[in-house]
Amino acid sequence: MSLQVFLNDRLVPKEEATVSVFDHGLLYGDGVFEGIRVYGGKVFLHPEHIERLFESARAIRLEIPMSPDEMTRAVEKTVAANNISDGYVRLVVTRGSGSLGLDIRRTSDPQVIIIADTITLYPPEIYEEGMPLVTASTIRNHPQALSPRIKSLNYLNNIMAKVEGSDAGTVEALMMNHKGEVAECTGDNIFIVKHGVLKTPPIDAGILDGITRRAVLRLAREAEIPSEEVTLTRHDLYVADECFLTGSAAEVVPVISLDGRPIGDGKPGRTTNRLLEAFRDLTRK
Ligand code: PMP
Repeated sequence: MSLQVFLNDRLVPKEEATVSVFDHGLLYGDGVFEGIRVYGGKVFLHPEHIERLFESARAIRLEIPMSPDEMTRAVEKTVAANNISDGYVRLVVTRGSGSLGLDIRRTSDPQVIIIADTITLYPPEIYEEGMPLVTASTIRNHPQALSPRIKSLNYLNNIMAKVEGSDAGTVEALMMNHKGEVAECTGDNIFIVKHGVLKTPPIDAGILDGITRRAVLRLAREAEIPSEEVTLTRHDLYVADECFLTGSAAEVVPVISLDGRPIGDGKPGRTTNRLLEAFRDLTRK
């Protein structure tokens, strides 16, 4: 059976799930989105994702034409209709179609799109062996230009950084912020472990307030692993004992080198593996 996509108020076969070429989501990247995992048929950390979606929309003055409860039910309905047990949900709200100008007052009909499908982001080896990383020269957008806390459809700066990673043969790339501090990767947050302490850049480094990042900080607390949200430089990463990334799609991925410098002994670290296991227990129990 064809994938069923939720569009505005109902499920339609994917071939019929289309939006206007005048939609400002397409014309200007004007809209917001979420990427959410489904484990065992259950939408993982659903309320946190719905809240972030509505906060992103509020920040760009986009009125979502349904309530958070209705959105929650629409996601659940889409997951069930497609028999997704373990998968991924892409939730998109566009500004809707309008004139060719930028004026949001001349747009109407925000489009709500929910796609639920299976997902394989990285091969299983990457979780066992870890991944190399390079630093992109493209920086994360300046928080005063567009807050990285807004999960907007405007991902071009991340895409440009990802191209740099691909050119260097890596699947992710590290992005610095406008002050030259470590921010995050193109689609993941970053953590290091140094002398037994888990460290990750604070939200005000100009990063997405990642929901997997929050979950891992909670797991660290439960496991009594000391953690801090602290400014990190690239040097801190070079001399870290361990490094890993977090994201809804990526989950927890060990990083074994940065810019050709092995991190620690160049293998996934002990604390990383502990947190990866704890994350698997949380999601797959
Ligand atoms: N940073 C960026 C830029 C992202 O796109 C994502 C993925 N949504 C993340 C971090 C990780 O966030 P989350 O754990 O909420 O998926």
